[in-house]
Amino acid sequence: MTDTTRDMLGRSGLIAVDEARQFLLDRLRNHTPDQQTIPLSQALDRVLAAPVFAPEDLPAHPRSTMDGFAVRAADTFGASESMPGYLRIAGEISMGEAAAGTVTAGTCHRIPTGGLLPDGADAVVMFEHTVPVDDTMVEVVKGVGPGVNTLGRGEDIARGQLALPAGQLLRPQDLGLLAGLGIHEVTVTRRVSVGIISTGDEIVPFTETPAPGKIRDINKIALGGQVRRAGAAVVDYGIVSDRREIFLPVLQQAVEENDVVLFSGGSSVGMRDLGEQAIAELGPPGILVHGVALKPGKPVIIGLSGHKPVFGLPGHPVSAMVCFDLFVRPAIDRLAGRTTDQLPEAAITARLDRNINSAAGRRDIVRVRLVREDNGWAAEPVLGKSGAISSLSRAHGYFIIPESSQGMLQGTLITVHLYS
Ligand code: AMP
Ligand code: MG
Repeated sequence: MTDTTRDMLGRSGLIAVDEARQFLLDRLRNHTPDQQTIPLSQALDRVLAAPVFAPEDLPAHPRSTMDGFAVRAADTFGASESMPGYLRIAGEISMGEAAAGTVTAGTCHRIPTGGLLPDGADAVVMFEHTVPVDDTMVEVVKGVGPGVNTLGRGEDIARGQLALPAGQLLRPQDLGLLAGLGIHEVTVTRRVSVGIISTGDEIVPFTETPAPGKIRDINKIALGGQVRRAGAAVVDYGIVSDRREIFLPVLQQAVEENDVVLFSGGSSVGMRDLGEQAIAELGPPGILVHGVALKPGKPVIIGLSGHKPVFGLPGHPVSAMVCFDLFVRPAIDRLAGRTTDQLPEAAITARLDRNINSAAGRRDIVRVRLVREDNGWAAEPVLGKSGAISSLSRAHGYFIIPESSQGMLQGTLITVHLYS
């Protein structure tokens, strides 16, 4: 990396969040994820590696969407309470069986919801719009147009139509669509694997009672949860001293064995240099970003070893988790081949319930708690230092104060991004 690039990347200053993220994502642009074929029953939250086109019409046969009578729509035109139409009941369709017989002019067949529409019929009059005359005759008190109360062949999705695009995260309804089409195996991208390291001589496993001066490891399990929510797999490299000779070999091993590596702890000046040096020693391209105009999360380090992203996240749990959302999650999505433009992020509009200040030129991520109001939601900022994990636990989501703004006034309608 040249000195000018380094300067541009903010080694001598802070760079903007979007620029930092884009700089990383651009480096991952040419990545082609590995693929694997798995049973549909295991495909929830995986990413489709290739588009799926409907191999057949859904439904394969026209079906009724109501309990009622299968009719020729023309026979019912103009029927009303005051001038009912009369149809002879010439048959009955049973659930799960092919329709026998044909609906001819002036006749109808009884049909249940989901029953296959018999030949000749092109609509269904719902029971509620009929009056029985006797076992063989029915009065139609409301006419129907062709196609009413039926699902036509291929009307759900037609053969050859795009069912799901490549890069789609498979949601429950997507699995349902594939099942309906008879697709029971899907080709998805390989799960991204993420190595996580906690650093710091003061950190002990959360299962232990910390001696004076020590604290429990919050970051590994919290970041691990975020990794899993991102659809990736976690590999735990434990808690490692921030002494170079101990830390570097663990980092190297984690990079070798995973697609992405996160270490946390490293906002302090000593570790900052170590984190940066260690990433540099992993080989080119090395450090991409060190320090962003962001609160919380300013000291984040983003590097690349070959094509593998390596993140040095701040030690303060809130900062680490905020940096995960802004930088790590998009990198995992990119490596998993997930296209995020197809499914928008969960967000709602809320009314800010107090004034919040921010420094110009910096992006603030303000955690909020949402409270129901008559006409929507109020957002209460959850104030707390970036070391206070309970502030994040109390929050339902966050909103962004952009670089261009020096704060937000009470009453402003804000977009709250929801934590899942
Ligand atoms: P550092 O970034 O190493 O300077 O750490 C900043 C603060 O975060 C310090 O108070 C650390 O003790 C704390 N910290 C670092 N790593 C963790 C962790 N894994 N869990 C909880 N707190 C941490
Ligand atoms: Mg530390």
